[in-house]
Amino acid sequence: MAELKFDHIYKRFAENVAAVTDFNLDISDEEFIVFVGPSGCGKSTTLRMIAGLEEITEGSLYIDGDYVNDTPPKNRDIAMVFQNYALYPHMDVFDNIAFGLKLRKFKKEDIKARVKNASHILGLDDYLQRKPKALSGGQRQRVALGRAIVRNPKAFLMDEPLSNLDAKLRVQMRSEIIKLHHRLKTTTIYVTHDQTEAMTMASRIVVMKDGYIQQIGKPRQVYLYPENTFVGGFIGSPSMNFLEGTIRNQHFWFNEHVPLKIPEKRFHDLRQYDGKTITLGIRPEDLHEEQAFLDKMQKSKVNVMIDIAEITGSEAVLYTNIGNQEIRAVVNPWRNISQGDQLELGFDMRKAHFFNPDTGVRIK
Ligand code: ATP
Repeated sequence: MAELKFDHIYKRFAENVAAVTDFNLDISDEEFIVFVGPSGCGKSTTLRMIAGLEEITEGSLYIDGDYVNDTPPKNRDIAMVFQNYALYPHMDVFDNIAFGLKLRKFKKEDIKARVKNASHILGLDDYLQRKPKALSGGQRQRVALGRAIVRNPKAFLMDEPLSNLDAKLRVQMRSEIIKLHHRLKTTTIYVTHDQTEAMTMASRIVVMKDGYIQQIGKPRQVYLYPENTFVGGFIGSPSMNFLEGTIRNQHFWFNEHVPLKIPEKRFHDLRQYDGKTITLGIRPEDLHEEQAFLDKMQKSKVNVMIDIAEITGSEAVLYTNIGNQEIRAVVNPWRNISQGDQLELGFDMRKAHFFNPDTGVRIK
């Protein structure tokens, strides 16, 4: 069992450096939690507080119900996997994986059995005699994982473990870590600034900014119902489009000439904003240029000129400007749209998000 509870946790490095502010979170056994956010948002500091590598300024941390603020790292029964692998260059793979067990005076046979089991799970059987310098980046990261696995700890903490790998290997290791989690079910807390990693790996995501939690939720929930403009813009790629405008007569007006009709169901929540300024958020995939859509959505389309058309293979990203704001649309790549083309973009207003323009908070 490994359940973690963060109760009003604060971390201040100096009087004026608040790295983490009022962090509250309950993590259940077997969860795969991802802390995600831009550089400096406090994710690593939070992880280091769990490991006991950073003192907690205020608040309480519990592991399986025990108050652990003052428990030394070695007594927390938690294994950490770092970005730079932290392998010993003079030891071979076997000894690197076995290191922590030897330190804890495990019996020789037990060490052998555990290393064998871990190397089997991680596909390292043929490399046990090699030194780290004779391994690829992905293999080194597997050794670092092996070192965590053999200890059979209560929880794994992973701090950007894939960021030193090339893009293809990163995707491969991503699924290997997920499979590993399915197999071992050990509670895992994983830190990344990469929203794709967060979306694909997490059972729950914790989105952070400037030391504050912005939203906690399942990937789908965070994607479909971002609680503020920061989360809406951070999660999803290409990122959500935002337009400032006014609500009038059940329409969103971003200028005097082109109203976008708000479906009845959505308008219900927006009545009190009638006549007021509001921020509309719409994901690039909810903008459409297909004729069938445009015919159906007569009252929610805008004429645009394409600035850039990027074809990624499976999709095309169109960049344009509406009301002085850059807008991105993801469309079918086979339509052969290019720079300078004029076309109509339809807004799927059923999927629109609305935010308070001053606070950025979602309007339910
Ligand atoms: P990154 O993705 O760049 O690693 P992060 O989200 O993990 O960023 P942290 O490393 O947790 O962010 O840092 C949070 C804030 O605390 C930052 O403003 C950072 O400068 C500050 N900070 C971190 N460690 C220290 C320290 N030892 N002394 C002073 N300030 C620190």
